[in-house]
Amino acid sequence: MNKSDFDHFRKLLLKERKRLLEELGWVEANYIGKSGRDTSGEISSFPVHPADVGTDSMEMEKAYLIGSASSETLEDIDEALQRIETGDYGKCVECGQEISRERLEAVPYAKLCLHCKAKAEENLGA
Ligand SMILES: [Zn+2]
Repeated sequence: MNKSDFDHFRKLLLKERKRLLEELGWVEANYIGKSGRDTSGEISSFPVHPADVGTDSMEMEKAYLIGSASSETLEDIDEALQRIETGDYGKCVECGQEISRERLEAVPYAKLCLHCKAKAEENLGA
């Protein structure tokens, strides 16, 4: 992987990061802020606005799931951006093998090769 590859994936990552932040902002504006929810979950660090509109609990749950999944992905993206800076980007953090270009194009923040990912999911019982 050369410098222009790094630039390419940095752009992909920043774009995805922006999209996720917008998604999180949307979730917060439409659901989280209205609930007064202040749990120890990942979303708790977002400012909570006064509740004034009731929200269906199914929708709340959905918003919460979107929010926490997005936060996790954001962390992965930040880690990937860091790995670009250190030149480790594109390598599996588990086994050090290069992650296939195809996989990185699809999931630019991937940190595991397919082999290690399958193994990780097995351990989770997924
Ligand atoms: Zn691996």
